[in-house]
This record gives sequence, C-alpha cells and structure tokens, in this order.
Amino acid sequence: MIKRDGNCVSLWQDTVTEFGSADSMTSSTPYDVVIVGGGITGITTAFLLQNAGMNCLVLEAHNLCFGTTGGTTAHINTLLDVPYSTVEKNFSKEKAKLMAESIKEAVNAIHDNVKKYNIDCDFKAASATLFAQDDKQKDELEKISEATNNAGVRNDFVDEISIPISFLKAIKVPGQAKFNPVRYVHALAEQFEKAGGTIMQQCRVLGADENDYVTIETSKGKCIARFLIYATHIPPGVNLLHFRCMPYRSYAMAVTLKNDSYPEDLVYDMYDPYHYYRTQEIDGQKYFIAGGYDHKTAHEDNQEYCFLKLESHIRKHFDIDKIACKWSSQYYESPDGLAYIGQLPGHEKIYVATGYGGNGMPYSHVAALSLKRTICKEENPYQDLYDPNRLKPVAGFSNFVSHNADVVKQFASKFFSGEDLKELAELATNEGKIVKFRDEKLAIFKDENGAVHALSPICTHVGCEVKWNNAEQSWDCPCHGTRYSYDGLLMTGPASKNLAKINVRELVINEE
Ligand SMILES: Cc1cc2nc3c(=O)[nH]c(=O)nc-3n(C[C@H](O)[C@H](O)[C@H](O)COP(=O)(O)OP(=O)(O)OC[C@H]3O[C@@H](n4cnc5c(N)ncnc54)[C@H](O)[C@@H]3O)c2cc1C
Repeated sequence: MIKRDGNCVSLWQDTVTEFGSADSMTSSTPYDVVIVGGGITGITTAFLLQNAGMNCLVLEAHNLCFGTTGGTTAHINTLLDVPYSTVEKNFSKEKAKLMAESIKEAVNAIHDNVKKYNIDCDFKAASATLFAQDDKQKDELEKISEATNNAGVRNDFVDEISIPISFLKAIKVPGQAKFNPVRYVHALAEQFEKAGGTIMQQCRVLGADENDYVTIETSKGKCIARFLIYATHIPPGVNLLHFRCMPYRSYAMAVTLKNDSYPEDLVYDMYDPYHYYRTQEIDGQKYFIAGGYDHKTAHEDNQEYCFLKLESHIRKHFDIDKIACKWSSQYYESPDGLAYIGQLPGHEKIYVATGYGGNGMPYSHVAALSLKRTICKEENPYQDLYDPNRLKPVAGFSNFVSHNADVVKQFASKFFSGEDLKELAELATNEGKIVKFRDEKLAIFKDENGAVHALSPICTHVGCEVKWNNAEQSWDCPCHGTRYSYDGLLMTGPASKNLAKINVRELVINEE
C-alpha cells in the first residue's frame, strides 16, 4: 500500500504497489526541467516534457500520489466547481469559452493516454448531472446551464437523475469520465521513465536559487536545471500565491450498496458545500463514492463529525452494505475561480500550477499542456488566461512576511522548564490539543503507548497557529494549509521545516 498525507486510507492507496525510485540524480549536466511533486500534475507535466525531448527529473518528498492525488475522488469533468457563469461574470464570455476549451483538451488528453498506453485504471466515460432542490438553486441552475452552453459545453435539462434524491430541475452534461487516479499516475510515471526521465522519491526540495540556471537544494543534494516547476499543489516558500489560495478540506466515503443500484453518472447537488457522488469499479468490485462537507482547513473543531454527517447523508438516501473506507484531503481555491498556471510571481525560470479547487484531474492536464508549450516555446493559448501574475502585489506584503518570520524565531528560542502540564493527564490516546503553558502555547499529542509529543504550535511557514485534525491525526495550519504529522514531521507544504519539538519527558526528568 502506498502512503498518503493522512491517517485515513483512501480507496486508491491499496490498488497499486510502491513505485521504484532512482537513488541519486543521474545527470552531471543541468537538467532541462526539474519537476517538484509526484502527483497527477507533476507526473503528467514531466511525461509531456520528456516526450518533447527535454531531459527531466521529478523530485517527490514522499512517494508518488502522497498528496491530494492519493485522496481525490477522481471525477474527470468539464462541468467545473466554479460555474462558467461565474467565469463569465468575473472575466468575460470569451474567457469562459477559452477555459472550457482548455478543460476539454485536458479531458481528451487523459482519454488519449489511457488508450495509447493501454492504461489499466478502470477509466470509463460518463455523463455529469447537476440538480437543483429549491427555487433559488433552480434559478442558479438555469444561469449555469446557459453559460455552460455559451462556453461550448453542451448540456440539456432532464427529467430523471440516476440517484434516489428528489429534485426540481436537473441538467445532464455528456463527455465526462472517471478512473482510478493512482493507477493512472503510476502508469504514466512508467511511460515517463521509459522515455528516459528520472524519478527520485523521498527527496524534498528545500529551496531554489535562480540565476543563469536554477540551483535546486534538496534533502539529497543539489542539482541544476534550466527550468523548475512546482507541481506541489501549493508552492513551497512564501509567495504572493499563498495569500491568494485558500486551503479547504473535503470528506469522502466509499461504500458498497445492498441493492446493486450503483449510478453510472457523476452527480452533484447545489448546496454550498455541495455533495458529490459517483461509482468506481476496482478489480470487478463496485464502490459508491460520496463526498462533501468541505470547510476551510483547520476551521472545523471535530473532523470526525464531518464523516458522521457524510455517513448519515449517504444512509438517508442509499442502502449501504459496508463502508469500505473514508478519508479526507485538501485542495486550494483561487479567489477569482481560475487556476494559477505559469511563472511563479517574481520569478523567470520557476513555474507553478495551483488553485485548482476540486477540479485537479482536468486542471493537472491543462497545467501539463500549458507549461510544456511555454517551456518548449510553442504557441500557448492558455498562458494569459491562467497567468499567476494576474495578481497585483498587496501593500505591506513584505512587512507581513518578515514580521511572521520573527514570530517563529522568537518562539523557537524559548526554553520550557518542566512544570507539570495539567492538560497532559487529560489527553486521551491518539488525541492532540493546544494547551497553554506559562503564557506560551504547546501542541501536545498522546500516542498509543502513552508517550506525549509536545511541539511548538507555530507553523514554520509564516507563523500561524496549527490546529489538531482528529480524523487524519495531523496538525493543520489554517492560514496556508501546511500539514504536519502528530509528531511534527512536515507532510505537505508550503512550509519546508518540521514543527519545533519540545521534549516534555526530558524536562520532567530534569526537574526531579
Ligand atoms: C476530497 C477531494 C476530492 C477531490 N475530487 C476531485 C475530483 O473528483 N475531480 C477532480 O478533478 N479533482 C478533485 N479534487 C482535486 C484534485 O484531487 C487535486 O487538485 C489534484 O489531485 C492535485 O494534484 P497535484 O498533483 O497538483 O497535487 P498533489 O497530488 O497534492 O501532489 C503534490 C506532490 O508534491 C509533493 N511535494 C510537496 N512539496 C514538496 C517538496 N518541497 N519537495 C518535493 N515534493 C513535494 C507532495 O508530497 C505531493 O505528492 C479533489 C480534492 C479533494 C481534497
């Protein structure tokens, strides 16, 4: 089973064996492109660039699909979370059309890869259904339908939907699909290696210096490249994009049904947050996947409660036989509804792809196609549409960054003497909590053996305070979505350092 950035096991983790990894960087000369991140974006981009004649290296901090790709629900759709009506309003009809073209090209690219390389990932074509359940949603649906048609994504009103939930009005959009994302990424990674590319796992990128070349510092040494791509879902370090992309957590559950009435379509209601439904067959076994209950990362006190709400919602409408698995994962939303794909603000040779919302399956391929065209100096119709530099710098941004860096330093240099922490005794096994100790806060967690792990709760990115996630057993940062394991090890960026450890046991012994 492959690992993921959470304690819960997703439907996909057990469907592949671990991917092999190169021991060291293979090139003594500069790479053409180093791609950071082994999720669907990194591997697809690397695959396209390598096949275009570039010498590429993929660096992954953990294992392939460790990030959100291992925790997605893998609807491949042209009907996006941010409706075409919103893109029309925020930008223009032309941009909504161009966006639809990019997404259609991406969906076709996935289909073509599956066909060309005979990828065994249970890929299946499907339609999508969006349904309204009250008058307000009905009005909204009519606008969405019109804008979606205007953008060139055909949809029709229908009288029936494929799940047993009552509705007032619904649209159906053909030309969607579903697959096993982890099997797809592993197969594409194999093709990338066959084409001469190199993948190094367990290799974290710590920083990059941009001169004539980009010098990349990693946990396994340095390398040099002409271009660097952060396919890390959110770029590491501190960048304007971190203050624009908002991290969200979404919850999913895969169940088997008693009555075998598994819907073939991808289905969505119109609540905010909305519920999403689909079926996936894996090795002959069908699973009904439902998801929802999204919230801003670390803005929910009890993440287990989100699973309970999801389960009760599924039970209300479907006859569950068994719950196969439940998991949650993180995505990033941009404020204007379009992804950020292109040059990282303030950089020339460093590129980024983020802000996909819940549409990373198509957007990963838009990113791969777009970045490949830009780097290979081909005509790129999507460059301006998704340009991350459409952002204007915010006044006071640099002060904010240095102030927060100071907060981290001050806290890390504090010495905690060994006074009894009352809250330690009150902690249940596998529970984490932020406690106050001598006017300072500590993040503490009690593991299965009763050992208490104490950490600084100050996120090493820009100094926000982390919160305990009781479902995924992680410390999550509410500001920019950095996540740490129970003992403070960095799981997902943008931070690049672990939480500072405070050895409570030693301090107690010292006092005796
Ligand atoms: C619950 C949920 C359901 C979703 N469902 C859908 C869906 O149905 N359809 C859809 O289109 N989208 C969906 N999405 C969104 C989609 O899953 C994501 O947008 C997509 O998986 C992002 O892929 P990625 O490759 O960009 O990032 P990731 O998969 O997160 O990969 C980034 C990788 O970078 C690595 N990394 C990070 N920092 C470093 C570093 N410094 N050095 C080296 N490596 C590093 C990480 O370990 C990770 O493996 C969903 C999201 C969630 C949360």
